[in-house]
Amino acid sequence: MKKHNFYAGPSILPQVAIDETINALKDFAGTGISLASVSHRSKEFDAVMDEAVALFKELLNIPEGYSVIFLGGGASLQFAMVPFNLLNKKAVYVNTGTWASKAMKEAKLFGEVVEIKEANYFKLPHNFDYPTDADYIHITTNNTIYGTEYKKDIDYKIPVVADMSSDIFSRPVDISKYDLIYGGAQKNLAPSGVTFAIFKNDIFGKVTRPIPTMLGYTIHAENNSMYNTPPVIPVFTALQTLRWIKANGGVAGMKKRNDEKASKLYAEIDRNKMFKSTVQGEDRSIMNVCFIMNEEYKDFEAEFAKFSSEKGMLGIKGHRSVGGFRASIYNALEIESVDALIQTMQEFEKMH
Ligand SMILES: *Cc1c(COP(=O)(O)O)cnc(C)c1O
Repeated sequence: MKKHNFYAGPSILPQVAIDETINALKDFAGTGISLASVSHRSKEFDAVMDEAVALFKELLNIPEGYSVIFLGGGASLQFAMVPFNLLNKKAVYVNTGTWASKAMKEAKLFGEVVEIKEANYFKLPHNFDYPTDADYIHITTNNTIYGTEYKKDIDYKIPVVADMSSDIFSRPVDISKYDLIYGGAQKNLAPSGVTFAIFKNDIFGKVTRPIPTMLGYTIHAENNSMYNTPPVIPVFTALQTLRWIKANGGVAGMKKRNDEKASKLYAEIDRNKMFKSTVQGEDRSIMNVCFIMNEEYKDFEAEFAKFSSEKGMLGIKGHRSVGGFRASIYNALEIESVDALIQTMQEFEKMH
């Protein structure tokens, strides 16, 4: 039976990216040795890094004056690196979920934090006031756990830092509206182990604290992300994914696919008498679709979990902090998988 991969992260990747990685693990770029054991200083790996950075810039239309780097440590290390490098006195954090609040927790180690928050995480704050003398505002564009997303680039009066772990490359982004963007690559790009950062070159140097070499940003850009040993295998896979994105219409092509998948799935959740969406209207994520059982059917949750897994649906259990269900429908997920999930929901409805 075909398996449909709805895991939230690590998550589905284009099959070609997996296949090319398997091939390279056997024989990398005709070197006769495995990608797992090749030097990151070899000219063959240099070419991988160069092309990955170049494609990042090309696909996201990154303007002059920005750098792209690959790091270790996950998005969670960025939660600390961002305030360490940018927070002098005060920063604004838009607290839209578990990840945003973890980012905010780290910032509090380095300065005052002004928190912007709704009554709960199922709605996003919009059009709020914030102090314009803050060093930066931090937003999480897609909230992987709660299924909310800022799908448009917003103009802020102060520098903007964005965690785009789970929606990078899902839509065109106006990079010029951001000063620093970061994310773990394991949602939409690569296996876990690599983190990306895109930053405006002139934003650093304004804090007075000493920065350990590995915790700075520009040092990594100056060394083409090879100041130390980079995560060679995930960077290679990221490159294959980037090539696949390019071959499939770029980020505009991804947005079209993603909008189609998301609108089909939300339409079924809204129609089906057994389920309901936890997020309404413009805040709905096109990457992580969260839903729960309707009140009258709430005792059927475990049964649907079992039924759907028997139908080949993998990873649709909601995050342990929210419950219910979550279908992550990242770039690489085919519309056929969304159709299969919809069919499963309809069969379940007929059974009851
Ligand atoms: C998964 C995720 C993280 C955490 O990423 P790690 O690489 O595991 O540290 C942070 N932010 C968002 C939005 C995420 O989806």
